Amino acid sequence: MRLNVKTKLFGAYLLVLGLGVVLSVLVYGYGRDVLDASRRLVQEDIPRLHDISALKADILNQEKVLYEYHAIRDRKSFLQKYALIDNVCVTGLDAVARPLMNPDQLNAVRARYNRLRTLALQLDESLNAGDADPGEAGLLLFEISGVAQGINRDLDGLADQIRTRVQDSGESTTAAVNLMRAMVIAFSAIIFIVALFIGFYVRLYLAEHAERRRLAMFPERNPNPVLSLALSGEVVYANPSAARLLTSINADPDNPRALLPDNLSDRLVTLRDSNRAYEIWQYQVGERTFECGIHFLNDLDTFHIYISEITERRRAQEQLTHQAYHDALTGLPNRRRFQEQLERVLHASDRDGLRAAVLLTNLDRLNVVIGSLGHGVGDTLLQAVATRLNRVLEEARDVCANATLFHFGGDSFAVLIPGFTQSETPTALAQRVMAGAQAPLYANGREFFTTVSIGMSLFPLDGQDGIELLKNADTAMRQVKRQGGNGFQPYNAEMNARALEWLSLENELRHALEYREMHMHYQAQIDIRTGRVIGAEALCRWHHPTRGWVPPGEFIPLAEESGIIRPLGDWILRTACAAAKAWRDRGLDDVTVAVNISARQFHNQDLPRIVSETLNQTGLAAQYLELEITESVVMQDTQFTTSTLHELKEIGVKLSLDDFGTGFSSLSYLKRFPIDKLKIDQSFIRNLTVDDNDDAITLAVITLAHNLKLRVIAEGVETKAQLTALRHNTCDEYQGYLFSKAVPAEQFETLVAKNHSIRAG
Ligand code: C2E
Ligand code: MG
Ligand code: MG
Repeated sequence: MRLNVKTKLFGAYLLVLGLGVVLSVLVYGYGRDVLDASRRLVQEDIPRLHDISALKADILNQEKVLYEYHAIRDRKSFLQKYALIDNVCVTGLDAVARPLMNPDQLNAVRARYNRLRTLALQLDESLNAGDADPGEAGLLLFEISGVAQGINRDLDGLADQIRTRVQDSGESTTAAVNLMRAMVIAFSAIIFIVALFIGFYVRLYLAEHAERRRLAMFPERNPNPVLSLALSGEVVYANPSAARLLTSINADPDNPRALLPDNLSDRLVTLRDSNRAYEIWQYQVGERTFECGIHFLNDLDTFHIYISEITERRRAQEQLTHQAYHDALTGLPNRRRFQEQLERVLHASDRDGLRAAVLLTNLDRLNVVIGSLGHGVGDTLLQAVATRLNRVLEEARDVCANATLFHFGGDSFAVLIPGFTQSETPTALAQRVMAGAQAPLYANGREFFTTVSIGMSLFPLDGQDGIELLKNADTAMRQVKRQGGNGFQPYNAEMNARALEWLSLENELRHALEYREMHMHYQAQIDIRTGRVIGAEALCRWHHPTRGWVPPGEFIPLAEESGIIRPLGDWILRTACAAAKAWRDRGLDDVTVAVNISARQFHNQDLPRIVSETLNQTGLAAQYLELEITESVVMQDTQFTTSTLHELKEIGVKLSLDDFGTGFSSLSYLKRFPIDKLKIDQSFIRNLTVDDNDDAITLAVITLAHNLKLRVIAEGVETKAQLTALRHNTCDEYQGYLFSKAVPAEQFETLVAKNHSIRAG
């Protein structure tokens, strides 16, 4: 058993105390003996020795008085002296005869003294008698001397006894004193050793105490709350930081349990029974989050708890997790979350025999907005789109209750449709999304008309895992893009092959210009009233070395997507202007050339500069150049459109709105845009003589345009009946196969020359 310092010190103290008591008892006992012996010596033995020697002297004096009386014979003096000395001797005898003396020894002395008295009397009688015999007196004296010597001997014997006793008592006193001295020395030695021992342990104790105080400072000074709990869960210690924290959470500062979880008792029992010594708990106290490390000290039946507040850390963690799974710009769940959720959805669908769908949704022409208005506007637009699409899904809960919207970044969104049963669900939802995206959006004070391209893949039909489904949805979406965007396309197996084909086409398109595979054709535009050719629409043609003529409907979107449209567009503008200038130089008056401007070209801030530079370079007067911009492009960002159109108008060129009727123009804009012409889309013309509705629409558009002082041209006129109907509806111009297809420049020149000469004739 290990004893602690305190116990050892207490043991030493008891030892010293015990030894002290024993020593005191012994010293007291021996001291009393020594005292008794000394007292006897002083009070009895020494006075008695003194009395004995005095008595011896008195006996001698008495003997001397008797001898003197015998010699001088002065009876009177003798009687006086004798009476005196006898009295002294009797007193001396009494003095010697003290209690405790051996009475027998004293009796012998008294007997001899009485004999001496008798002899003294006899001597007196003998000397006093008239016939005194000197010989008898001499004998008496002799006997007296003998008796006196006998008394002296007896007294010497008594004195010797006393001396022997004094000597014995002296020896035993010396022995007792020596013993006491030895005990005192031994005790002192023990005290000394114990003192050393105590000194050592006191030092140890002080060091231990200092150490304990130093250790005690750890919980005391700990900036975090530290609690000590009894086995019952009762708080037996709480450091000052605990009180501070309690105050800060508006709890009672005397109730440290408020810092611990509600189900503390259950947790303590679980920890105790688990055979573990340490656990970490995280728990809420009101709005705040705490973490505590709890130590179970089995040997002390105590729990030590170290609390720290982790509200901020938890918040930061949650924020990090949120950031990891959400797009920073739109706050929508991101691609990572999509992939995780998709895997879960596929797993569940597989298990339950359900289908799932991915709608990969791409915002059309975002790069155009960013290119012309910057990333700030692009970001705001994306946020508005995200909000819009989310609302669309909210409102489409009747179609699909649990579809989720994701934002992969940039223009790329996705809708995940988990386990559905109705096969029309994904298509219906895709149509809702497309329709929702088309309503005007407002961002940075501008109005945008956005469209989306949606590619769809279905589980398990189009892919067994997330990667394949996403890839196929992407392929389908790209197909929509190639067809000009704003559409919805479910994936099908042939698409992959086509996608590859498009990829190689894109590569070849990059070289088409430099290999002189691009050609410009011109389609005549005729004044309906006079029948005179008054313009030409420049239409680009790609003569591919192996594929033959690739239609612009295929390569223009590809050029847009890949950025090739910039150099291609510049080349088209330059070629068309140069052709028109050549016609004028060769005497073809009043023939305007109309050049199609793609979305990306239009949104290029440099367009006005490029147009005026091209006019300068080719020498064509601005009024003979017309720029065709499709309705959907113009409506994308009406504010930008208005200012760009004005800039172009300032150069002096004409502006026409292509494919009118296919977009979502708000008619009020027609008044605001500085345009000269509306081109009614060929889809209306096609059914002009068949569908009364188209007839009515065409008439309405023409009437409206005329009210706005705009000219109207119909495109795609193929039959005389269509032309008659247009003429009837007071349409100004037309173009179409009825008059001519688009033809090369030289051919067009001949065509026009012929037309003009006939008209002139
Ligand atoms: P768009 O500007 O609406 O051009 C009219 C399209 O209708 C041309 O097709 C033209 O050949 C065709 N067309 C003309 N008359 C008739 C007709 O009577 N019947 C039928 N069915 N079609 C007729 P094309 O040349 O295939 O061009 C298609 C589209 O490609 C154009 O539509 C235009 O948006 C774009 N495009 C063509 N060339 C260029 C170009 O040089 N630059 C740009 N940016 N786009 C171009
Ligand atoms: Mg056109
Ligand atoms: Mg058109």
